Amino acid sequence: MEKMQNPTGQINFIPVASKLNWDEYFMLQAMLASYRSKDPSTKVGCVFVDKYNHQLTMGYNGAIAGIDESQMPWGNDKTVDLEFQKYGYVIHSEANAISHRQGSLEGSKGYVTLFPCNECAKLIAAQRVSEIIYLSDKYRDTPEIRISKKIFDLSGIKYRQMSLSKEITEDLCAYLNSMLKDL
Ligand SMILES: [Zn+2]
Repeated sequence: MEKMQNPTGQINFIPVASKLNWDEYFMLQAMLASYRSKDPSTKVGCVFVDKYNHQLTMGYNGAIAGIDESQMPWGNDKTVDLEFQKYGYVIHSEANAISHRQGSLEGSKGYVTLFPCNECAKLIAAQRVSEIIYLSDKYRDTPEIRISKKIFDLSGIKYRQMSLSKEITEDLCAYLNSMLKDL
């Protein structure tokens, strides 16, 4: 029996589009990574992707892998000795991502929820990352961030800020909740 033809001639042709572009998708991944952080005051996440938009590595700020983190201070009171501040122990998200990556990050793009500090900027530049896309730049007026930008400028690393609309996060929350209802 002859099958019905679609009057347009395009059988099962349905226009489709993702709800997220790559920037939005990877920034949400970086945000999700930050959600894993146990740091009570600052949570930062990042994802590095190659030129084909394949994820290479991710990280969030936290304790050194494998150590008993209950034995390290998590407070951020800078009036005490560094030995008793989290800053003496915590690894930043970018340093974590880079240290766990087996292989080169040359030419990759890094999505970060917060502009990288100067220590992470050194690692990013040494890896020859090509671009940093960031959400927040709230420490832009500090020497550390000015140094980061100088390092990126000297290394030819591009950096740009992006934002996520409230519609995206709200739609995503509704989508996730709807998935749980379908179980
Ligand atoms: Zn850092």
